[in-house]
Amino acid sequence: MSVWDQPAGLGQCSSRRDDDGWLRRQWGEGACLDAAGGSLVAGLDFEPTSGRFDPGRCYLVGDRPSGRALFVRHVEPNADLTPLRRELDAVPDERVAELFAAVALVNWHDSAGYCANCGGPTVPESAGRSRRCAGCGQQTFPRLDPAAIVAVTDDDDRLLLGRQPSWGPGRMSVLAGFVEAGESPEQAARREVLEEVGVELGQVAYFGSQPWPFPRSLMLAFTATARSVSLDLDGQEIEQADWFSRRELAGLVDGGAVILPSRHSVARRLIEAWRDEG
Ligand SMILES: [Zn+2]
Repeated sequence: MSVWDQPAGLGQCSSRRDDDGWLRRQWGEGACLDAAGGSLVAGLDFEPTSGRFDPGRCYLVGDRPSGRALFVRHVEPNADLTPLRRELDAVPDERVAELFAAVALVNWHDSAGYCANCGGPTVPESAGRSRRCAGCGQQTFPRLDPAAIVAVTDDDDRLLLGRQPSWGPGRMSVLAGFVEAGESPEQAARREVLEEVGVELGQVAYFGSQPWPFPRSLMLAFTATARSVSLDLDGQEIEQADWFSRRELAGLVDGGAVILPSRHSVARRLIEAWRDEG
């Protein structure tokens, strides 16, 4: 069971976001992480706050069960920051939701400086949980891009894995793609697999979900059965794909020939759920 299937450990502080006195007191006793757009972070944990509270660039991430508030400070990209995605496997389980929330907020602010309605400049409000246009007054909230990700198995219960050209050597994963306008995630899963490897899906079943703030995806995961096993790669999004038995995949992973996705990804959870069924 992943953290995403359990009640959130991070409170949203929904009723306190506009309480300036409360926010400043929380800042004094809270913890903060510096981050920049592109999911760049100054470390893998929140440190005790220092300096003054700047509502223009210090955003409330939430509070821990202990009551300690967490903030993220939006900074310019600099050499002290590292991509969270690269360090992801080093993040402790109890920190992953907090870090994902922090970079998701900063990624959104980084791209939301101008109003989609009138083009005017926008400013953060409500502890950085929304922005408001200085021109037309329109309020905007953090945006998500839904993506479907699907573990496809054949009649012999082999798992379909593919790789994108941009990935590091040996990296293989289940297939995924963004949900198009007017499409359900289940339809997106069917379309992506057909487009990328030429396989038609039979039954598609919901598996689970999680945020994936690189930069702003919401992953909706499915399992599916294949109607055929012949692969016809599109050569663009997927450069290599194959069916793997549990024994084959375990051998390739042990030998280092195949590298699986981060342990904090739903892709990995899909692969491990299939592995554990065998
Ligand atoms: Zn506007």
